[in-house]
Amino acid sequence: MSSKGNVTAREPVRGVLIHYHEIALKGKNRSFFLKQLGANLLAATRDLDCGPLLRPAGRLFLTMREETPWDVMRQRLSCVFGIANFAPAFMMAPNLELLAQRIEEEVSGRSFRSFRIAARRAFKTFPYTSQQINEMIGARVQRLCGARVDLTNPDLTVAIELLPNAAFVYLDKLPGPGGLPVGTGGTLACLLSGGIDSPVAAHRMMKRGCRIVFVHFHSQPFADRASQEKAIELARLLTRYQFASRLYLVPFGEIQQEVVACVTGRLRVLVYRRLMFRITEQIAQKEDAQALVTGESLGQVSSQTIENIATIEQASTLPILRPLIGMDKDEITQQAQQIGSYDISIIPDQDCCSMFTPRQAATRTTSREVELAERPLDLDRLVAQARSAAHSIELSFPS
Ligand code: ATP
Ligand code: MG
Repeated sequence: MSSKGNVTAREPVRGVLIHYHEIALKGKNRSFFLKQLGANLLAATRDLDCGPLLRPAGRLFLTMREETPWDVMRQRLSCVFGIANFAPAFMMAPNLELLAQRIEEEVSGRSFRSFRIAARRAFKTFPYTSQQINEMIGARVQRLCGARVDLTNPDLTVAIELLPNAAFVYLDKLPGPGGLPVGTGGTLACLLSGGIDSPVAAHRMMKRGCRIVFVHFHSQPFADRASQEKAIELARLLTRYQFASRLYLVPFGEIQQEVVACVTGRLRVLVYRRLMFRITEQIAQKEDAQALVTGESLGQVSSQTIENIATIEQASTLPILRPLIGMDKDEITQQAQQIGSYDISIIPDQDCCSMFTPRQAATRTTSREVELAERPLDLDRLVAQARSAAHSIELSFPS
């Protein structure tokens, strides 16, 4: 068996057949994309004793042992962005009799009333057409199981893919998570609060191929550790998608006290947020991150009017990505539930932005107005202080 998946042995090889989105593979990026997808697949399954990973034309095939638990494998692959679909499969020599025997063995343990065989030849060198293969193998399955052929809505679809030097058989194709492999889209620093939105924002950018460095601001010792515990749990959950993460925990309480001493209540949230951006930008530089990510959504709260978003943005020289900007809270909540972050996010905590802040925040500020309010603050010192007091923790999955 070669790395291209040329099969000479008669014995079928068990594994998972992975298809990726061809559209991402155009031109020069193809091998870069595939290399990263392959590395991510191996990282996601590194404790499952599988491999080698083969690259038959246009696909990936990760060999598995019989004992590899499919439930675990399925969960892992559902977090590897770049996979269009995947299926537990057998790889074997492209020989009609071997294929038929394997399929007979696979279907005989199943109960189904209707089925279809769906053969696809990637190269037309095989001596039979797809239709002939469907008919020949279909007749054998029918004889064995007594099920009828249904081409439109069968209980069971038996897929066969034929390459010049290998064939694949599978019954249970599952949709993958789509997107692009993490690591192909650069590094971003995500401001991760303990709330519902920012983990969803991070997830969306990972799905576009970005690696995320997490940054959480907390108000210890003025508040308890709850927000930090939540940020750690959220980062741990999201690490399933990038396999290794760094989370910065930045003490912000003392800085907030200085802000409270000289900035009027209605502008405080904006000044806090601008400081967060400046501090995160420093962390981004150290981490070679090319942009910041937030969970902001237009109009959701007073700090997220278009005027205030513009005012906050002025504090950063890096681009700010806001993948949730046009989503409403229900849509974001739905995604948080799908990812599994929702239950962590709703644990009560005290977000540092709500501390020392009046209920009524200004909704329409200008950056000039906020710059004036910031004048009494020694911004460089505050940023440097936060930067040196920040500490980072490393997370990995599988651990
Ligand atoms: P979230 O649910 O993510 O907390 P939110 O609806 O509570 O968002 P805000 O509190 O206004 O909205 O925060 C807007 C964005 O600012 C957050 O999505 C996050 O990116 C960032 N942010 C807010 N507070 C913090 C914090 N304590 N640490 C890190 N980032 C924060
Ligand atoms: Mg919040």
